[in-house]
Amino acid sequence: MLNLSKPVTAEGCKVVRIANQLDATDRAVFLQAIDDSATWSSYRLELELKARGIRVSNDTIMMHRRGVCSCQS
Ligand SMILES: [Zn+2]
Repeated sequence: MLNLSKPVTAEGCKVVRIANQLDATDRAVFLQAIDDSATWSSYRLELELKARGIRVSNDTIMMHRRGVCSCQS
């Protein structure tokens, strides 16, 4: 259930790596949703992204939002 694995890469955490793979328009939408925790709970975001073929766990999203992910250490 809990995904506590912490990816360690120079590029940053999975949230940033996904953003970097999107085109500019999708990246803006994606990052806006990531930043908008009032509208998008991490779990809701995980489900919506999964429906669009992007797999990222709500734990990863939460860690990125809290600034405890590998790209902000
Ligand atoms: Zn991050």
